[in-house]
Amino acid sequence: MSSVKQLLSAAAELGTEAAADGPLLLAHVLGRDRSWLYAWPEYRLDANKQKQYKSLLQRRLSGEPLAYLTGHKEFWSLDLQVTPATLIPRPETELLVETALALHSQETAKVLDLGTGSGAIALALASERPQWQITATDISGAALEVATENARRHKLGNIQFLHSHWFDSLDTHRRYDLILSNPPYVAENDPHLLENGLPHEPVTALTAGTDGLDDLRRIIGAASDHLAPGGWLLVEHGLDQALPLQQLFEDAGFDNIKTVRDLEHRDRVTLGCYSRTP
Ligand code: GLN
Repeated sequence: MSSVKQLLSAAAELGTEAAADGPLLLAHVLGRDRSWLYAWPEYRLDANKQKQYKSLLQRRLSGEPLAYLTGHKEFWSLDLQVTPATLIPRPETELLVETALALHSQETAKVLDLGTGSGAIALALASERPQWQITATDISGAALEVATENARRHKLGNIQFLHSHWFDSLDTHRRYDLILSNPPYVAENDPHLLENGLPHEPVTALTAGTDGLDDLRRIIGAASDHLAPGGWLLVEHGLDQALPLQQLFEDAGFDNIKTVRDLEHRDRVTLGCYSRTP
């Protein structure tokens, strides 16, 4: 039986990835937080826990994302459950949430999150604006189960979950003040898909046709049928997609089209307002 200290120094010797994630996996197996490990270095794991930890560390070193191994990922200070049915929420998607909150300061709003996955965007908005009525959709029933459970655990009752492929199952009588989406936007043959654990994530949440824009084209093209007058559409996208997206927004009749950059000055989110009346 090994002690916490022995297991952590063994992980440190395996390289930077094991040194960084070994403690997180060990804490996960023990149902503790990381600081506990440093407070109890002499604690000895039983054989079963030790086996569990070693197997998780092995899987991590073979490329499985940490979030799928622990089943958790933090987004907007909310601890979210994630499974391989959902994309792992990325910190960069917080820019989409920030932009929406800055854009619409009113206490009430009808808001739609298309392709919610683990529910990250919808839950972040719901936690900040308890009066907003949020609808969150996904094409994947398994993802919706995860998102629904995340909302329940965080006691966020102002989100309605709906099984839908983009707008397909939505009623056009209900109009939204804000529509947000972090859809798949990576080109099908992008070599980036082979790195950083992406092969473990649902491909339907990552890729969209040969230029990565198939789903964005569909969303931008149909959004005006679901926006209230003066409503906004905000989408996350790839770093080199701002120009084609601005054109798509323009072709669809949007005005006030803008692209927002992240802290590293990379284009990340494009938005537009639909002011025309039907
Ligand atoms: N930002 C993600 C990545 O490149 C892709 C997420 C998405 O397609 N929505 O890893």
